[in-house]
Amino acid sequence: MAVKPIEVAIIGGGITGLTLALGLQKRNINFHIFERAQSLREIGAGIGFTPNAERAMQALDPRIHQAFKSVASPNASDWFQWVDGFSGVNGDKDTVEEELLFNMYLGERGFEGCHRAHFLKELVDRLPENCVTYGAHLETIIDQGDNEVIQLRFHNGATAETDLVIGCDGIRSRVRQLILGEQNPASYPTYTHKKAYRGLIPMEKALPALGESKVNTRFMHLGPDAHALTFPVAGGKLVNVVAFVTDPDEWPYADKLSAPAEKKNAIAGFSKFGGAVRTIMDLLSEDLDEWAIFDTYDHPASTYYDGRICIAGDAAHAASPHHGAGAGSGIEDATVLATVIDFARTRLNESLDKSRSEVLKAAFATYNAVRLERSQWLVESSRILGEIYEWQYEATGSDKKKCEDEVFWRSHKIWDYDIDQMLQQTAEDYKQRLSS
Ligand SMILES: Cc1cc2nc3c(=O)[nH]c(=O)nc-3n(C[C@H](O)[C@H](O)[C@H](O)COP(=O)(O)OP(=O)(O)OC[C@H]3O[C@@H](n4cnc5c(N)ncnc54)[C@H](O)[C@@H]3O)c2cc1C
Repeated sequence: MAVKPIEVAIIGGGITGLTLALGLQKRNINFHIFERAQSLREIGAGIGFTPNAERAMQALDPRIHQAFKSVASPNASDWFQWVDGFSGVNGDKDTVEEELLFNMYLGERGFEGCHRAHFLKELVDRLPENCVTYGAHLETIIDQGDNEVIQLRFHNGATAETDLVIGCDGIRSRVRQLILGEQNPASYPTYTHKKAYRGLIPMEKALPALGESKVNTRFMHLGPDAHALTFPVAGGKLVNVVAFVTDPDEWPYADKLSAPAEKKNAIAGFSKFGGAVRTIMDLLSEDLDEWAIFDTYDHPASTYYDGRICIAGDAAHAASPHHGAGAGSGIEDATVLATVIDFARTRLNESLDKSRSEVLKAAFATYNAVRLERSQWLVESSRILGEIYEWQYEATGSDKKKCEDEVFWRSHKIWDYDIDQMLQQTAEDYKQRLSS
């Protein structure tokens, strides 16, 4: 008798949900995306992907890597530059020159950036038609028992049935709350007391003001209690700016993580910085938003799954963005999930010694075992990096050699991650679980 195909419900169509969907489609596994919004969309800002994320894209589905590379802007230099954005050069705080603190080799076409909306469009264009239900705001999940399908209930009264639920529903994940408990502090992210002003500066404005070498490659501008990241996107037509400031106050909004900001506040946050950073802030447009940086460091999840329900991406391990690796980590999750669900499908077809539910639950247990430690280390290290970049981390202060050493090993732990080895571990763990 033919085995019933596995049905996967993906809650949320951000980068994690969409890349997972493509990876499942490539493996001929049935899936459906339930998205709260009325369309799939990303904000008008840049995003960069570290080398490990590119390797995960290739392993998950080469179409994802093609999608990224088709919209990525090459850096003019293969070296990521960390500069002193604060002190000026030879006592001159008005020059746009900055002292190079250290740099790191990215490899050929490594750590490129793109416009988020452009990447998302490329992903969506590669998905099959009718695989997304919009306006589907998940309210609750009812696990009706091991031999039954799982029921999803949405705020509009709609319901759906599935075998597996994967919550890719972002930093304020409902699925996380359902797995960990609504009263559990680990169900909610906390404010890191840093916020970011984000903007895209047209190259025709940035180039004359800052000079070619400053706008056509990736720079991190360091300083006390604030720092800024710049890199080219949109085929070099725009410079992406993320300018972080330490905020001693609480984030005032309970229901949102971004809010309109006044440019004068952004400028004030960097008023004591050197000429390059002050010029960058002046070039930002008036209609700015500020983004609260929340993460899951204070209350990490003890598990990423419960039976046939799991969480991935920011829903599982939202990190502050200082490594530029949060979305990449979600793609690593998706790579493990698509791989292990494929193993589960094979197992169901080849052997009847375990129940359908045991085979499916073991898949999420393996995912949890492979991903929990590394992804939570990223959350912690991202916090630390934010402190290093703002000369707040005691062990490094503003000592450039100490900062370099710390940034070097932390970055390479992310960039050099062996995706093949991760998938090998996935295979071994799953096999072992089902043999016992
Ligand atoms: C300033 C900043 C810069 C960053 N830069 C980088 C970078 O350069 N590189 C990098 O790798 N990462 C970066 N990140 C991190 C990255 O943006 C996130 O890790 C990534 O976007 C998370 O994707 P996701 O799909 O897991 O979640 P999200 O993008 O949040 O997607 C969640 C989706 O779920 C939907 N949803 C939510 N709740 C429900 C519900 N109840 N029912 C149905 N749908 C629901 C939402 O509408 C949304 O579409 C940055 C983050 C910030 C804040």
